[in-house]
Amino acid sequence: MNDPNFKQELTGVFGQPVAENPSQPMVEAAYRHHGLPWRYLTLEVAPADLAAAVRGARAMGFRGFNCTQPHKLAVIPHLDGLGESAALMGAVNCVVRRGDRLIGENTDGKGFLQALQGVADPTGKRVVIFGAGGAARAIAVELALAGATSFIIVNRGEQRGRELVELLRTRLRVAAEGVAWSGDYTVPADVDLVVNATSIGLHPHGDACLPIDVTTLRPRMVVADVIPNPPVTGLLRAARARGCRVVDGLAMLVGQGVIGIRYWTGIEPDPGVMRRALEEIFQGSAQVVAERHPS
Ligand code: NDP
Repeated sequence: MNDPNFKQELTGVFGQPVAENPSQPMVEAAYRHHGLPWRYLTLEVAPADLAAAVRGARAMGFRGFNCTQPHKLAVIPHLDGLGESAALMGAVNCVVRRGDRLIGENTDGKGFLQALQGVADPTGKRVVIFGAGGAARAIAVELALAGATSFIIVNRGEQRGRELVELLRTRLRVAAEGVAWSGDYTVPADVDLVVNATSIGLHPHGDACLPIDVTTLRPRMVVADVIPNPPVTGLLRAARARGCRVVDGLAMLVGQGVIGIRYWTGIEPDPGVMRRALEEIFQGSAQVVAERHPS
């Protein structure tokens, strides 16, 4: 008989507030499915305790961890290096132990890309992104790295919008313009991909659609939303009614989870298992979009 081994490999998410983050059931469903005796812990970490938490993760041999708000920028000085897109974005949402080093990666945009690629190829595409925060930056950088050629950044706050436009122009060398958002936005007819990367529509703040003129969405456009809960947002409902193909926020969440598990464990997890774990949490509403776009 083999010697018993009760030691589990540790991963998790650091955030505050973090209790509603659904990553644990999604990631642990994959660990169970693939027979890995690993754990993913949901860890409430206050900003003042972040340095101690990272030291603790090192001391306890964590294989890696996700960082969510408010730690995506603050964690960087505590790490030993950054991956390419995390360095471009200046934000980390996934820390990976490589040997003795903790390396910061950003899987938000890569997860979005993975979800999008099930529906459309971003190469040569013209993109409108609503928002200029962390999710918008991550998505814009990965789309540009994947070959999207022109961007319109529509944001409420002009300064943040300008910073993202600048990043796209100078570091990614793609065409980019900023629009200060006021009133219902008219989507230009030649746009291929429309992305909501704001927090508009997130539970429990109601079911608002973005301030856009939905009659300017055309059937040939792909419309994506980062909001995972509820998975069917007002924007996606309007887009489907206009005949557009859609990508929901659950697909992005699953996509970034798949990449994190791949980084930490080296295995290729089954995205269907992960999506079903999330659908159980968010109940029947997820199915409506999932049926059209299995991740
Ligand atoms: P940030 O706080 O960094 O950015 C929020 C963005 O939303 C800003 O551009 C902000 O504009 C805009 N915004 C917020 N409220 C409004 C409003 N009422 N009207 C117009 N614009 C508004 O957040 P993140 O970028 O980190 O996250 C954004 C969303 O993305 C969250 O809901 C999060 O849940 C989701 N997300 C989903 C992921 C997934 O895997 N599905 C992964 C990561 C994030 P301004 O600059 O003017 O304040």
